[in-house]
Amino acid sequence: MTTFKTDQYACPACSKVFSAQTVLTLSHRGQDSDFFPHYVGENPLPFFLVQCPSCSYAAYPEDYDPEKKKERRVATGFIKRIMALPLAKKMPAEALRFFLSARIYEETERNPYHIANLYLRGSWCCRIEEARKAEIELQQLAIRHFKLALDKSTLKNPDNVPVVTYLIGELYRRLEDKKSAREWFFNVPEVVLDSEQHWILELTQKQAELNEHSIN
Ligand SMILES: [Zn+2]
Repeated sequence: MTTFKTDQYACPACSKVFSAQTVLTLSHRGQDSDFFPHYVGENPLPFFLVQCPSCSYAAYPEDYDPEKKKERRVATGFIKRIMALPLAKKMPAEALRFFLSARIYEETERNPYHIANLYLRGSWCCRIEEARKAEIELQQLAIRHFKLALDKSTLKNPDNVPVVTYLIGELYRRLEDKKSAREWFFNVPEVVLDSEQHWILELTQKQAELNEHSIN
């Protein structure tokens, strides 16, 4: 079940003080093959991010820490330019919040792994709304940043390397790029470190078979 809490925030971009609801607890039963959880109760995705009602700045609650204000700040004009992009205009509102936040993370040079996860969550919001075109664009952006995270070794937890390698393959499969999906699935066994990660090998094998046998 999803529960919420309300806190006060000060916007790093325009300094507006406002209150917003965020997720306190959540649960899920199962997940899609790209780790989109099947949430039990109200969909928490719209409440993961906090958005300023004045300038539309969007980020995770912890990004509003007053001590980080300088490094989290972007110009309000930057936010306006992102909102005016053709891609932003065709995106469902919840997905747009993740897209905007990802762009702010890029602008403030945050870890590509976190940027990729923002784009991925945005793609889940599109799936809920059946906005396939926007979902594709966000999946492509997620792939680009997951690859950057692997290239630059920005994953703090090395256990995540096989998971991210699998996820890039699975996103390619969902984008119907069989060849790239095959390459990334093929890499997974080489980066698995210990037997506790056997589950990711099983999942990879299952999705790799699906990749070979589905008709595009
Ligand atoms: Zn603001």
